[in-house]
Amino acid sequence: MLIGGRWRAAAATFTVDDPATGAVLAHVSDGSRQDAHDAVTAASEAAAGWRRTAPRQRAETLRRAYELMIADADRLAALIAAENGKSLADAAGEVAYAAEFFRWFSEETARTSGSYGESPAGDTRIVVTHRPVGVAALVTPWNFPAAMATRKIAPALAAGCTVVLKPASQTPLTALAVARILAAAGVPDGVVNVVPTTDSRGVVAAWLADQRVRKISFTGSTEVGRALLKQAADRVVNSSMELGGNAPFIVTEDADLEEAVAGAMVAKFRNGGQACTAANRFYVHADVADAFVAKLGAAVEQLTVGPAASGAQVGPLISATAVEDVRALVDAAVAGGATVTHRAAVPAGLTGHFVAPVVLCDVPPDSPVVTEEIFGPVAPIVTWRHEDELLGMVNGSEYGLAAYVYAGDLRRALRLAEAVDAGMVGVGRGLVSDPAAPFGGVKQSGLGREGARQGLEEFTETQYFSIGWSGA
Ligand code: NAP
Repeated sequence: MLIGGRWRAAAATFTVDDPATGAVLAHVSDGSRQDAHDAVTAASEAAAGWRRTAPRQRAETLRRAYELMIADADRLAALIAAENGKSLADAAGEVAYAAEFFRWFSEETARTSGSYGESPAGDTRIVVTHRPVGVAALVTPWNFPAAMATRKIAPALAAGCTVVLKPASQTPLTALAVARILAAAGVPDGVVNVVPTTDSRGVVAAWLADQRVRKISFTGSTEVGRALLKQAADRVVNSSMELGGNAPFIVTEDADLEEAVAGAMVAKFRNGGQACTAANRFYVHADVADAFVAKLGAAVEQLTVGPAASGAQVGPLISATAVEDVRALVDAAVAGGATVTHRAAVPAGLTGHFVAPVVLCDVPPDSPVVTEEIFGPVAPIVTWRHEDELLGMVNGSEYGLAAYVYAGDLRRALRLAEAVDAGMVGVGRGLVSDPAAPFGGVKQSGLGREGARQGLEEFTETQYFSIGWSGA
């Protein structure tokens, strides 16, 4: 654990396993509620100093973190691939994306904002300023162990906040490596504290009950997000929630099918489908469904599956439970009338949590594989003929994180994009993540945004001074 600038061991440890082999990778300190308390004490004691640090100095510290992370990219990618299982190409992509949050927010740090104005009556002056919200608790998932950490740490530090971070218990190693980079970049002791734990419920509850913690920024499932919002309500803790998704991928009859398939391969199979923005349900116009499925199926059959070290494109899922969940969704779809039309080969003899990428056709629109978040390499195809029917299916979900639209005509694509309930829409693109863009969802996919200027504002609160004015 990193608490107050010191690396220290907890009373107990837990193991981190390689999902590709089941082998133990490391024994990691299992933080307790007392450790959680100590981390808040460290963050709280460091808060005044960090807040007073000149914006330019904070910016340069973040910039150094960016440079150190890029210099260490190969090692970090190997670490991500080891504990998460994703392919080396996906892991390298994540390191570049994760580091970019340090660079983007280093640039935003010095762009401070505020305003000065005259009241309508002319008898006061109104000064508006934005100040750090205070000690922030950050909770991250296992599917992007580097990027989900930097997407929170960078804006928090840019805003002048100090943080306590609890990484996912399946992937704590990357967050600890990021913390080392921040220390090497010159982040003062106590500004960033990391508490790995298997008692996630207890540690986060302790933080939310601690009056020194003024912010919770969570990325994970909608179910856990709801529970944390209820706890945050007790002390009215400022909350940002990046939750689950169920992204529709829309293909119209006039779309360029080559481009649509290329986008689908990225939106669906990057990270083995374990992304909150992953295309979860494909809505393809009936006139082009056969042609789209033939092209997508051919691409899926060429995917290589295996451990990252083998250079495969699709790695294992995170756990045996995840494999069971994905298989159950496919089985339920098939029992409901769907057909597996294409499948990638999984080499014999693999011992990890591998599952074959598949294309499912004739999927009933109410099948659980369509209505629930799959988090695996399964592409269910639903066909449509009329836009009203399409939008009814698309917007019938409780989720609203990402969506993808492939249409031949840009005006039609934009009309569909505006009609979709989603915080982010890829128009002719299978990837929406960008540190310079506001990432986040509507409905039960979350509250608030990460990245862009909005990501920094999530870690500030507005204060205004009413200035008595005696007139000229
Ligand atoms: P999760 O089970 O909700 O876990 C996320 C984090 O919360 C982990 O650090 C976890 O710790 C912790 N946690 C679990 N139960 C908790 C509790 N009762 N109290 C406090 N903390 C708790 O989600 P996941 O399975 O790791 O990640 C997959 C989910 O994240 C998917 O739904 C995905 O869509 C979503 N996600 C969303 C975004 C986004 O930006 N919207 C990005 C990535 C992922 P442990 O590891 O110890 O369980």
